Amino acid sequence: MPKLYDMTKHLPKKGLGQPMQQQINIDLSKTTPQICHLCGCPVFIPGIQLHKVSALMSPTGQELLAQSQIFLCANCKAPYGSKEGVKTND
Ligand SMILES: [Zn+2]
Repeated sequence: MPKLYDMTKHLPKKGLGQPMQQQINIDLSKTTPQICHLCGCPVFIPGIQLHKVSALMSPTGQELLAQSQIFLCANCKAPYGSKEGVKTND
């Protein structure tokens, strides 16, 4: 009586031995998700704030625009970190 041959032992195991795709080495599950203080929305969109620098303050001696990036709530457009947000009629 022939022995049963276990084919499954020789099948390639999928998913094992493959290098993980190297991305950012941060475990997002250990971070603190940021949400909008006003509406709780977890999605923010980037925005640029422009600041006009007068010629007196400018390092070049000429009027220039300085920019800083802020993040706006994708839902209510409140700036990230702001507890006041966009004023509404009340
Ligand atoms: Zn919001």
